[in-house]
Formats: sequence, C-alpha cells, structure tokens
Amino acid sequence: MQVLTEQQERTQNFYTHDTTLQQILQDMLSEPFYHYANRELTTFGEHVATVIDARAKVTDREGEPRLQRYNEFGEEVSQVIVNEGYKNTVKETYETGIVGYVHKKIPELNQKGNYVYSFAQGYILAQAEPGFYCPVTLTMATAYLLDHFADEDVKQRFLPHVAATGEVELFEGATFLTERQGGSDVGANIVRAVKDGEHYRLFGEKYFASNAGMCGVAMVLARMEDAPGGSKGLTLFAVPWKREDGTLNGITIRRLKDKLGVRAVPSGEVVFDGAQAFVVGDPSKGIYYMLEALNLSRICNAAASLGIMKRALDEATTYATARHAFGHRLLDYPMVQQTIGTLKAKHHASLVTLFDLVQLYDDVSSGRVGREQQLIVRLLIALVKKETAEQAIHFAHEAIEIHGGNGYIEDFVTPRLLRDAQVLTVWEGTANILAHELIRIIKQDGHQLLLALLEQRLAPLQGAEVQFVKERLQEITTQLEQFTKLPAAVQTLEAKGLMKKLSDLYESVVVLEHADKHGKREQQLAQIYIQLTWKTIAFGEVPLAVQYS
Ligand SMILES: Cc1cc2nc3c(=O)[nH]c(=O)nc-3n(C[C@H](O)[C@H](O)[C@H](O)COP(=O)(O)OP(=O)(O)OC[C@H]3O[C@@H](n4cnc5c(N)ncnc54)[C@H](O)[C@@H]3O)c2cc1C
Repeated sequence: MQVLTEQQERTQNFYTHDTTLQQILQDMLSEPFYHYANRELTTFGEHVATVIDARAKVTDREGEPRLQRYNEFGEEVSQVIVNEGYKNTVKETYETGIVGYVHKKIPELNQKGNYVYSFAQGYILAQAEPGFYCPVTLTMATAYLLDHFADEDVKQRFLPHVAATGEVELFEGATFLTERQGGSDVGANIVRAVKDGEHYRLFGEKYFASNAGMCGVAMVLARMEDAPGGSKGLTLFAVPWKREDGTLNGITIRRLKDKLGVRAVPSGEVVFDGAQAFVVGDPSKGIYYMLEALNLSRICNAAASLGIMKRALDEATTYATARHAFGHRLLDYPMVQQTIGTLKAKHHASLVTLFDLVQLYDDVSSGRVGREQQLIVRLLIALVKKETAEQAIHFAHEAIEIHGGNGYIEDFVTPRLLRDAQVLTVWEGTANILAHELIRIIKQDGHQLLLALLEQRLAPLQGAEVQFVKERLQEITTQLEQFTKLPAAVQTLEAKGLMKKLSDLYESVVVLEHADKHGKREQQLAQIYIQLTWKTIAFGEVPLAVQYS
C-alpha cells in the first residue's frame, strides 16, 4: 500500500515526492519565499506531471512544430505552427514567472525572485519535456542579456515583453550564434550588419536557430562592416521577429531541422535579408556578452539534465516495483537494487550540487561578488554542465535497461528520455570545448581558488567520508600542479579526465555538507555516493546501495 502511494505520487506530482528539492529550497530561500515557492511548485509539479506530460508525448510523436513557408497567396510567411497543447504550455509556463520573476518583483512577496526558484521550476518542467524547457532557457538568456547589457531604450522596448507574466504580450527569446561554418568556432561568423540610420540591417544565415518562428526577439551575433575578424569583431543585436505592423522583419526560415530528440523545439535555418537590428550595449563586446549568457545557458542545460535524470530514476523505480520476473519483483533482486540505489544517490548528489552552483551564480549575476568568485563559478559551470549532460544519457540508458524490451518502445517515455538527453552534451558547448574552458581558467589560477574554497568547506565537517574526500582533494591538487607544467597539446588530452575528478570532488563536498545539515536519509545517500564515485568497495562486499535499499 505504501509503495502504491509513493508510486502514484511519483507519477502525479513531480514536486511533492522530491524530498531533496524541498530541502534545497528550504535551505536556500527566505521563509516567506519558501512558503510561496512550496505552494506554487506543488501546483506546478502536478500540472507538469499530468497535463504537460501528456502534451509532451503528443508533441513528440504526432504534433511537433511544423513550418508553413508560404500563405495562400504565395507570400513568404515562415510561420511555425504548433499544436494547441503547446500553445497552452507556453502561456501557463511563462505566467508562473519562470523567466519574469528573475527580473521583476513577485507581486505577492513584493520582492524579486531568483535563479534558485527559476531553476527549481525548470528542473520540474524538464521532467516532462526538455523540449518545452529549451525555449524557456533561451528566453532566460535573452532577458539576461537585455537586463545586464542593453541601453535603456532597447531594454524598455523588449525586456517587459520577454519578462512578461501575462500583463503584456509575451516575446519568447532566442540566441542565434551558430553558422554553417562553425558552432564552437564562433569567430568564423560572417553574418553582416549594415548601418541604416539609427539602427542596423542584418544579412546572412544562421544554421541552428532554436525557437525560430516562435520567438518575439532573437539575440544575434553579427559583424559590422568595419569590424575586425575573429570573435572580438562580433556585435550583439536584438532582432525582433516581426515589424510593428505584424509582417516579417526581413527574416525567413529555410527549413526546420529533422532532429533525433527535443522535437518539441523548432530549430530552424534562418536567413536574414535586411532584418532591422538594435545594437545591445558596447558594439565591441558582443562575444563577451554572449559568453556571459552562455554560462547561464549551461546551467539551464544542467537543470534539464537533472530533469531527465530524475524522470529516468522515477520511471525505473516504478517499473522495477511493479514488474515481476521469475516469481519476484524486479526490485527484490540485488542487482536491480544496486542500479536503482546508485542512480538515486547520484541524482541526489548532482541535484544538491546544481543548486549549490545556482546559489553561487545568483550572487555573480546580481553583481554581489568579485572577480575571484566569478572565476570559480565559471569553472564550476563547465564542470557541472559536462558531468550532468553525460549522466542524463547514462540515466536514460539505465532506465531502458530496467524496463527490458518495453524500455525501447515509444509507448513508454524512456526512448524519448534517451533521444532528448543526447543533445545535452552537444549544445551550449561540447565536452572538448568545456575542456578548453578548464585550461583557460587554470591559466588564470581559477583551480587554486576552487580547491581553496572546497578545502575551507570541508574543514568543519566530520567523519570517515570527509577524511577520505580531504585526501582526494590533496591528490587532485598535486595532479593539477603537474598539469600546469605539461605541454599545451598534452594538457588537452588530460583535461577531460581532470574535469571528471574535479566534478566528483565538488559533488562530494556538497553532498557531505548537505548530509551534515540533514538526517539519516541524506547521510546514507552521501555514503552510497562516496562509495560508488571513488570506488572504495572491496571485492565481495555488499554495496551500500543494496544494503540501504
Ligand atoms: C538541436 C540543436 C539546436 C541548436 N540550437 C542552437 C541555437 O538556437 N543557437 C545556436 O547558436 N546554436 C544552436 N545549436 C548549435 C550548437 O550550439 C552547435 O552544434 C554546437 O555549438 C557545436 O558546434 P558545431 O555543430 O559547429 O560543431 P563543431 O564546432 O564543428 O564541432 C564538432 C566536433 O569537433 C570538436 N571540436 C571543435 N573544436 C575543437 C577543438 N578546438 N578542440 C577539440 N575538439 C574540437 C567538438 O567538440 C565536436 O565534437 C543547436 C544544435 C542542436 C543540435
């Protein structure tokens, strides 16, 4: 009976059964904010798990966005058609303030929201459909860019719409960087910006443009005519999709990509032919602004990854509880207990770590901290993005394995989880590109700042696991010193391995801190996590993931 209740809750509300998320919010939000968030997320968690989840399935299999290039008179309209459920999801999601309340006050609390609350919403939404969450994350990046860098007139023109929660027309956002000749190598961009009176007109093509046709405004990197080559010659523009009279702003969509996953997102190839564009901030700082927004998008990527991890864990647990083989529930077999217990501990550690990072990021984005803290956060973002994206694929794979043949069949959500997870390692920077980021940060001694911070955080904690992690910290410190002396090419070969170690170290510190603050459940999860991550188990010993199941 107990199991049935838990199962029902798992599938009918993505918030109320998530003890770890509730603890995080209670730890990180002020009391009135927590009460507000707890109430709102209880409603949202149920809506996502039921109504939005059903819409996600329809959208992925039979109702995905499609492009209507011409109207009945043969005129170019480049309109993206989405189903009714999709439209309702857009409206309902933005009206929760998932984007808006980072930039304006929550009326009931008379205070601004923050990224902790926004990412809690995003993590819940991604459990139903990362393809619905992706446009939200693009809108978050757009709002960030406008709020932080745009001149007042450009900000006033667009931000109220991008941060809308129902009071004015919503403009979803988009970020268009990638061109045919390169995504990682943005410096190769050739889209041109030509001066036209007070503004500019864009000419050229963007090759991966997610939320094309759905966005009200896109943030676009383009090169002014007299600008130098490379990434430093790029300027950031705000480009409205339509003119004020409702006609297309010199933008057309050549086609929508036929993708492996996240099929709910319309990802187009977009052509600018004289689109009116508004310069954002200092024209010589376009790449700098976009890299700032990219850091936010990488956290969004991690929140989506955690959403997939959680859904995969829940689906696997529910199935293993209900399914019988050879006269027993799957969950009664030690090997299955080991898989589920391991996923549970890893998800728990990754979730507390993600929100630890988000809290640090909240300080950075609101300008409350200096350069050193900014560098640490940049490093942590690269670590967390890489690790969680890879884990999302691993979790989806394990969920399929637990389901056996059914896991491979589209009646179940598991195939979609795997298809959707696969993009998370690619967009917002591949593992190799993140490894280059690590090398750049090490050159600025960012690793030393991080190691000092982690050492400081471990200091007040007690116990065998803490001592063990302190020793790992010393080992990694030595390895990083050796790393700085390696030839540049060899560094690139070692960087991803080091990222994994640093990410394991960061998660270990955060999960032990969390355990120290909370109870027996959290201590057991931390012990399982340490055992599985650092492979401390002896041959023949029963893993803690099984002992505690
Ligand atoms: C579904 C989807 C939606 C997208 N939406 C958008 C969007 O809305 N806006 C946008 O701007 N972009 C978007 N993208 C593009 C995405 O950001 C790029 O695909 C990504 O940045 C990688 O760039 P690329 O495809 O050009 O690959 P490349 O840069 O050609 O990389 C190919 C491979 O080479 C490796 N590599 C590249 N350089 C190096 C190096 N120096 N050292 C070692 N290895 C290297 C990479 O790690 C990768 O494995 C989207 C992509 C997808 C799949």
